[in-house]
Amino acid sequence: MQKVYLDNAATTAIHPQVIEEMVNVMKDCYGNPSSTHIFGREAKALLELARKKIAQQLNAAPAEIYFTSCGTESNNTIIRSCVNDLGVTRIITTYMEHKCVMESVSDLESRDKVEVIRLNILKDGSIDYDQFEELIKDQSKKTLVSLMHANNEIGNLLDVKRISALTKEYNALFHTDTVQTVGHYPIDVEDLGIDFASCSAHKIHGPKGAGFLYARKSTHIKPLIAGGGQERGLRSGTENVYGIVGLSKALEISLEELENHTKHIEGLKKYAIEELTAKIPGVAFNGLSNDFEKSLYTVLSVKLPFHDTLIGFELELAGIAVSQGSACSSGAAKVSKVMETLYTEEEVNQMTPLRVSFSYMNTKEDIDALVSTLVKISSKHLVVNA
Ligand code: PLP
Repeated sequence: MQKVYLDNAATTAIHPQVIEEMVNVMKDCYGNPSSTHIFGREAKALLELARKKIAQQLNAAPAEIYFTSCGTESNNTIIRSCVNDLGVTRIITTYMEHKCVMESVSDLESRDKVEVIRLNILKDGSIDYDQFEELIKDQSKKTLVSLMHANNEIGNLLDVKRISALTKEYNALFHTDTVQTVGHYPIDVEDLGIDFASCSAHKIHGPKGAGFLYARKSTHIKPLIAGGGQERGLRSGTENVYGIVGLSKALEISLEELENHTKHIEGLKKYAIEELTAKIPGVAFNGLSNDFEKSLYTVLSVKLPFHDTLIGFELELAGIAVSQGSACSSGAAKVSKVMETLYTEEEVNQMTPLRVSFSYMNTKEDIDALVSTLVKISSKHLVVNA
């Protein structure tokens, strides 16, 4: 049976060079980086080299990069510390964030630790910038703004510089979840003017179980996990040395190949849009997903013009892996918060959303397989509905 992987926003295949580098570390460098003997010092040297390289790629200082296990941990650490340690009493965010941000914020809210304002979302899935401009002027409470750089479900990109200019002007802290953009876009933390960001290796052809957070030096966030004081006290627990080396290598390759990969993936996305539009009457795209300037080139959020609760199985039978929502949590095909925010219940019941997400490893043949399967599925519904 054919196997077509178009779910790269959920996770990616590990790059062969990343595997090679990780295996070398596993074989040759097994010391604990906290040990003071030669084995430990060798492992420590690898960690610090990885930190230095990553910092350079983001135009950050090495001391501003902290290794974590994943994007979820990075986002939790940042948000919770802002409230618990840095005196934040108001958060401006949205219902479109990844669950790890939404749930952390809701948890703090339910404990009465913080007032939460969730911005209005426009029909195209972007935030209401005018509303934000009004809200941010209120400086009576110390504010954290947490808005994702790119939405993992529909791909909408945030105008980060517009937000950071305002957070600076009105003395707010600015966290942007960059899990879907690090390695896919050049990220310069100084130029973007952000205080906190997050990264997960498995989204960029690196290993699962490794990530980092960026925290501007002046912010002084505190740990979520207590213990041996690794990561300069911010993240206790023996470091995942080979995972971190893999993360650093994955980021290095992603940025070296950025232009080639972007061109290749943009070509695939354009082809998918053209083919779907030509072959499935009434097909549309969610949010700004078919706007190449304002949406991730790696994600295409398709809006099929019929409701099919079994589409996941049908695609599965054809060997095609896409996602019906963000699907990087439980795999359950229930209506996502993003779709609930964008559409009325009636609209949701007349459509089927599909997230198709690409990597440099995909080919035109993958798109052909997807489109022909969707055409078959659609023809049943469109005849019934005709
Ligand atoms: N933030 C965004 C935007 C994501 O897409 C994801 C994962 O899909 C995460 C955070 C969580 O990352 P991780 O899977 O590394 O915990």
